[in-house]
Amino acid sequence: MHELSLAQGIVELIEEQARAQRFTKVRRVHLVVGALSHVMPEALEFGFVSAAKGTVAEGAEVVMTRPPGTASCVGCEKNVTIERRGDPCPECGSFQVLITGGDELRVSHLDVE
Ligand SMILES: [Zn+2]
Repeated sequence: MHELSLAQGIVELIEEQARAQRFTKVRRVHLVVGALSHVMPEALEFGFVSAAKGTVAEGAEVVMTRPPGTASCVGCEKNVTIERRGDPCPECGSFQVLITGGDELRVSHLDVE
């Protein structure tokens, strides 16, 4: 389950920030998980809860924003929104679409004390 290692990476990032910014507790972690990222939100949250045990992030609430996938269509040259990788262009049905956004996974910010 690669969500667990992603979650561990997030917790490590939070611990680094905790050292640099001297906070001791994280209330909420705001994550951006693009609709086209290869991440299952439930699995990521589960992994986070377990990776956060014994760290400043233990017990933190996970808040996820799910930006839609965006793509540029080769067929009709429009910028479109797609739900999943491999989906055709909703405008013209072409499968030649280039993903331009919505595949990111990152920490947007932390609510700390
Ligand atoms: Zn198209």
